[in-house]
This record gives sequence, C-alpha cells and structure tokens, in this order.
Amino acid sequence: MSDKVLVLGELRDGVLRNVTFEAIAAAKKIKEDGEIVGVICGDGDLGEQAQEMIYFGADRVVTVSHSDLKMYTSDGYAQAVLSVIEDESPYGVVMGHTAVGKDLTPKVAARLESGLISDATSIEVEDDEVVFTRPIYSGKAFEKKAIESGLVFATIRPNNIPALERDESRTGEVQSKDVDIKDLRTVIKDVIRKASEGVDLSEANVVIAGGRGVKSADGFKPLYELAEVLGGAVGASRGACDADYCDYSLQIGQTGKVVTPDLYIAVGISGAIQHLAGMSNSKVIVAINKDPEANIFNVADYGIVGDLFEVLPVLIEEVKQLKV
Ligand code: FAD
Repeated sequence: MSDKVLVLGELRDGVLRNVTFEAIAAAKKIKEDGEIVGVICGDGDLGEQAQEMIYFGADRVVTVSHSDLKMYTSDGYAQAVLSVIEDESPYGVVMGHTAVGKDLTPKVAARLESGLISDATSIEVEDDEVVFTRPIYSGKAFEKKAIESGLVFATIRPNNIPALERDESRTGEVQSKDVDIKDLRTVIKDVIRKASEGVDLSEANVVIAGGRGVKSADGFKPLYELAEVLGGAVGASRGACDADYCDYSLQIGQTGKVVTPDLYIAVGISGAIQHLAGMSNSKVIVAINKDPEANIFNVADYGIVGDLFEVLPVLIEEVKQLKV
C-alpha cells in the first residue's frame, strides 16, 4: 500500500492560502511516517510557493503550470489533479474545505469512484484506521467517519488543524509536470471580487460580525475600524445582508460561510440557529447586544449587554491603548 498523501495546494492571487499548510499537518496525521507530496496547479513559475509547502512540512512538491490553469475551473483543475493522482498512486488526498475545495474534490473523487469526507475538523488514527470528525446538523453534533476502501480523501475546515511551524531549514524536491488540458467547458474571463480586500473572512483569526442591530451600512464603519485594529475581518448575519447593510459575501451561517476564528465578536446579532451554524465553533465568542435575553448569549463566552454604538467606540479605544 502506498504511504504517500497528496496535499492539493490552493493559490489566491498567486499565494498559497493558509489552509494549504493546515492540510499538510492533516496529511501528517493521516500517515505520520508517509511521504507528504504537495500539488500546486497554476500558471507561470510556481517554484516559490512550492518551496513554502516544503517549509511547512511537505517532503516533495509537484507543480503543474499551464495557461489553462491560470484561473480555477473544475474541468481544468480536475484533469491536472487526476493526472498527478495517476502518477503518484497515493494512499490519501487532502485539501482545504474552501469554495474551490468543495467544488474540486467531489469531482475528482467521483471520477476515481472514491469516497470523500468533507469538512473534517479533526483526524485521529484508531487501530490503523484514519477517523475523521466532522460537524453535522449545522454544527449541533459531530460524527466520526472513516473510508473503508479506496483513497482516503478529505477536505479540512480552515482554522481547525494547526499548521506545523514554518521551518526554512526543511528541504525537498520540486518537480514540474506537464499536463494536456482538453475540452474545457468553461473559460473564466475575469474574477470580480465582491468582498473587501484584506483578511480573508473564512481564514481570519478574528471576525467582527454585524447584524440587523447595526441598523445601516454606515453602522458597519465602527466594525471595520475594530477589525482593522485587531487585524481581523468583518462578517455579517443574513439579517444584515437582507437589509442591504452589506454584501452577501460577508454572510456567516447555514447558508453563508462557516468560520472558526480564535475570536468572534457578534455585534447586534440575535443568535438565530442558522447563524450559530456558521460560527458556534469559534474558540472565544463575545456578544454585544442590548437585549439580555438574546440567544447569542447562550453560546457566548463573554457578553456585553449594551448599545453597540456606545460599546464599540470604547472597545476600539481600549484596543488602541493596548497596542500603544
Ligand atoms: P435580528 O434577529 O433582527 O437581531 C438583531 C439583534 O440586534 C437583536 O438581538 C437586537 O436585540 C440587537 N440590537 C438591536 N439594536 C441594537 C443596538 N443598538 N445595540 C446592540 N444590539 C442591538 N441567518 C444567518 O445569519 N446566516 C445564515 O446563513 C442564515 N441562513 C438561513 C437559512 C434559512 C433556511 C432560514 C430560514 C434563515 C436563515 N437565516 C440565516 C436567518 C436567521 O433565521 C435570522 O433571521 C437572522 O440570523 C437574523 O439576523 P440578525 O440576528 O442580524 O437580526
């Protein structure tokens, strides 16, 4: 049986997303003494990013550079990844549970008639079996799952499995592979990004999320200010998105993004079950709400009962003072 685990790297603006490094740590949990092989698809020189994968624990990296892989398409990337899997015959394949991971991995797994465990939050090996833990019922419960035969194929939720320490003394081989990409059914002409530039919401360590209590698009300004001083990202409830206070790309919850930051500050959010589904696994939750009975306080580690427009300026000032 092969002892290789492939880690599918994901580039954003030419730079690997953090979850790629977490996926390397996940691969090491799957096969502790196995060979961890990074895979990066893209266009142009991918050597520098390949080196990053090695610094974070990959033993070897295969780069696939092709003009048709400049932007992500399921067809193009699936062909490239399938070709690497065919060459390498790995034991397992891991990728981040991101928009790209959610699109690419089921396609590749289905082509290989393999199982896929998506959105894993932890991995253990029990009696030689790799067991994945993943949330179910919108995060209200967790299940443990294993793949009985075929590839051990999984996507991992960002911010759950810590990456290994970056170590520039690590060395490894970088191999470039040619692929023949054919019959692309879609061509991406351009990508228009809706979310604000800056920290990526789904990977942020700190998230400041606003709800309908924020009352207007202008009301979000202090949230952005707090996010900036804390080095975090701004998110929102669907209530705030529906009210047009912010873009739907910021929505957190059952029908939005799932986040697990170290610190989640819910501002003027009631704590509907659909919202909790996207944030209740955050490590520390702080809620600011003027209603002491608001459901969000049931999941919060710290609660501030008060008017957000009075609380936020004080909080921002305090954080700024701490940073001086
Ligand atoms: P509200 O429930 O209106 O709460 C506003 C809160 O702000 C209140 O608690 C109030 O006390 C507080 N407040 C008001 N003024 C102030 C002030 N000045 N200072 C402090 N606090 C103040 N919702 C999501 O968030 N994400 C999802 O993915 C999602 N998916 C859904 C899917 C389905 C199928 C359905 C049916 C619903 C979904 N919802 C989702 C909607 C969800 O049920 C709630 O309606 C929504 O989360 C409410 O948003 P909210 O908490 O911002 O608004």
